[in-house]
Amino acid sequence: MSFNSLGLSDALLKAISKKGYTTPSPIQQKAIPPILEGKDVLASAQTGTGKTAGFTLPILQILSQGQHLRQRPIRALILTPTRELAAQILANIKEYSEFLDIKSTVIFGGVNQNPQVTQLRQGVDILVATPGRLIDLQNQGLISLAKVEILVLDEADRMLDMGFVRDIERIIKVLPVKRQNLMFSATFSKDIKKLAMGILHNPVHVEATPENTTVDAITQIVYPVAKEKKTELIIKLITEGNWKQILVFTRTKQGANKLTESMISAGIKAAAIHGNKGQGARTKALAGFKDGSLTALVATDIAARGLDIPLLPHVVNFELPNIPEDYVHRIGRTGRAGANGEAISLFSPDETVFLRDIEKLVGLKLPVQNIKGFEPDPNASKEPIKQGQGRQQRDSTPKKPKTDTTNRSSNNSFGPRRPSQNNDRRSNR
Ligand code: AMP
Repeated sequence: MSFNSLGLSDALLKAISKKGYTTPSPIQQKAIPPILEGKDVLASAQTGTGKTAGFTLPILQILSQGQHLRQRPIRALILTPTRELAAQILANIKEYSEFLDIKSTVIFGGVNQNPQVTQLRQGVDILVATPGRLIDLQNQGLISLAKVEILVLDEADRMLDMGFVRDIERIIKVLPVKRQNLMFSATFSKDIKKLAMGILHNPVHVEATPENTTVDAITQIVYPVAKEKKTELIIKLITEGNWKQILVFTRTKQGANKLTESMISAGIKAAAIHGNKGQGARTKALAGFKDGSLTALVATDIAARGLDIPLLPHVVNFELPNIPEDYVHRIGRTGRAGANGEAISLFSPDETVFLRDIEKLVGLKLPVQNIKGFEPDPNASKEPIKQGQGRQQRDSTPKKPKTDTTNRSSNNSFGPRRPSQNNDRRSNR
């Protein structure tokens, strides 16, 4: 199938071809036609499937077909859980709309609102927003959503995880009742289905398995290593392997900082990305990592959510995640866009319970390889570092989430903890 057969305009086809896309991805093939027909769509797709183009291309087509209202009210509203994802979606929209008369902008918290307000005053057809800042500006009377024709909830599962459900409900209340609704989610829990039922009308269900993010395209390997030798080992792997671009995951923000400092001392160009970093620092780190001026990006799980970093050859779990699902998200960062990737886990004995949970989830015994000189003491304790981090605590009573993740002090800039998780598991990330 080609993009031509999807019914997209010449202006969009020109932009798509400029981007170098030749064939629509499965989610694009399935989602674009019903969206163009004006139907509500519930799509099962995660980052890496091409989902962004799957909804932005038809939205651009629909909006560019209609008559422009003089004041350019917001006609399409795209809600996303994180600032980075919001910024990425806007960047895509800008590229796809290069040959169209469509204006778009993004709003998110953690930065001065004035430039965003100025942009809004000039009129935009498409607004990409995180819920917190959107509600803020709405409360200040600086934004009108009365003319929204299309609503997109992107990464809906993450939005629920991050405690945005009330914000979403509040936003929906101020939208026109008659509108088209599109919802994208990687997973479909009971809560997501409930949210979908309350928002979507007779939705078309579409599904896509992520391209090349299957476990097959990823070589997974576990290196048992004494805890105190992990830093030395990762530096050795990077320098001796002459690795050029490596995404490293740590469990905590402090751990990310410490490792980054050690890497820099060893001459590796590295930066950390986590919730305690200001927006500027995060954007700079991500840009440096993408353009190759940084070799290593050290991230916590929440900070890495939704980041589109194509063609990543190596992902390293410096520490195994205590939430097994995070392992799957982490390794999905490699082996993308047709490339084979390598997911390496540095595993110390106190992480035995985490490894066991991960293997249970992925249904695989992960291959283990010892590296001479780094093996852990066979008598080292296999107890987790902290009490109460085992899988059995995952479903403990949720704490009431805060409602605004986008406009808070920097040490909470990636939002409140996932309400469905045990606080011990998330608190330092
Ligand atoms: P997404 O899942 O929307 O985050 O997209 C993942 C990556 O795939 C992005 O870098 C897109 O630019 C890229 N992409 C989207 N659609 C296509 C396509 N049809 N062909 C090739 N790459 C694509």
